[in-house]
Amino acid sequence: MSNPSLLILPGDGIGPEVMDQVIRIIDWFGEKRDLKFDVETDLVGGAAYDKHGVPLADETMARALEVDAVLLGAVGGPAYDDLDFSVKPERGLLRLRKEMDLFSNLRPAQCFDALADFSSLKKDIVAGLDLMIVRELTSGVYFGEPRGIHKEGNERVGVNTQRYTEAEIARVARSAFELAKRRNNKVCSMEKANVMESGILWRDVVTEIHQAEYPEVELSHMYADNGAMQLVRAPKQFDVIVTDNLFGDILSDCAAMLTGSLGMLPSASLGAPAANGRPKALYEPVHGSAPDIAGQGKANPSACILSFAMALRYSFDQGEEATRLENAVQSVLASGVRTADLMQAGEADPVSTTEMGDAVLAALDASLQ
Ligand code: NAD
Repeated sequence: MSNPSLLILPGDGIGPEVMDQVIRIIDWFGEKRDLKFDVETDLVGGAAYDKHGVPLADETMARALEVDAVLLGAVGGPAYDDLDFSVKPERGLLRLRKEMDLFSNLRPAQCFDALADFSSLKKDIVAGLDLMIVRELTSGVYFGEPRGIHKEGNERVGVNTQRYTEAEIARVARSAFELAKRRNNKVCSMEKANVMESGILWRDVVTEIHQAEYPEVELSHMYADNGAMQLVRAPKQFDVIVTDNLFGDILSDCAAMLTGSLGMLPSASLGAPAANGRPKALYEPVHGSAPDIAGQGKANPSACILSFAMALRYSFDQGEEATRLENAVQSVLASGVRTADLMQAGEADPVSTTEMGDAVLAALDASLQ
């Protein structure tokens, strides 16, 4: 049998720097755990624009549709800010998400004990936090028609449309229930059924899918505004939260900040399962290309490393190895080894991106003893 395939798109700014550490870790799993991948690397974002005049070449798009998973660093940077909208680096990422039909966006909010002090909330509220937000990514108000700005009499009117079909709700609900089965078996669905018809339909369809296919999972419903409040009041009550594109955008950023630094946050975007049972999948850190620190060896590679851990778990069914990698990152942080973004005021001697990679590799070695 051939090895599972990975397409690596490091992108721009700190993307290549953090991805270099992930490539070392992929090699480690090949050598030490006999978990080998067929890895190919290509361009996306500004790097692709520089070579091809577009932020994602057609051949790269075609490969992304063929491989078992795509791992992306970050795109964008000041050099590309004045480009036409159609060729901006972000368009490369949006094309990947659209053509791979990645409708389910997984954003974990996990608070490593060593970083509990970095949260804006009290330590006891976030210590041990481990929740997952599943955001619908390809429909809803960001895509609904009609949309636009038009004139009504003497004034301009801006219009966007929140629109969901039953099928769109059903598939993301299934994605959340499947995830909950691998975790703590609890899903909380968030919408605004009190004021939005699309919210009423959302609640109906999630309930139907639950009763018909996942009665063993505990399901609750919450209005999204209350959900925002509960996320900062008592976030540990949640296991999996499933919500639409707009509410998910806001709630996932809110949940992310419960855990501290942008340099720690991974994500996965999943599509429909292919013939081999694996969903189309794109894994990427939440952060951008961080032009302010690019090329200086200051970037924290953890978010990108933890995105690869998500790939191990959700694309390659290697939950134990994913946990090994997550534990390695956690133990490095607990030992006090930190990149600059994780230093408190007054602390000195941050490690570089490569030294952080060294430390994670050493922790992985230690996990075998
Ligand atoms: P950013 O996430 O790149 O940076 C925000 C701040 O966080 C910066 O101060 C940066 O130094 C810091 N930071 C981010 N990641 C870090 C890491 N791994 N380690 C240490 N510090 C880190 O967001 P921005 O500055 O708003 O955007 C910069 C560029 O990135 C823009 O061109 C933007 O369009 C793009 N962007 C891309 C993505 C993506 O590729 N998915 C996401 C967001 C922004």
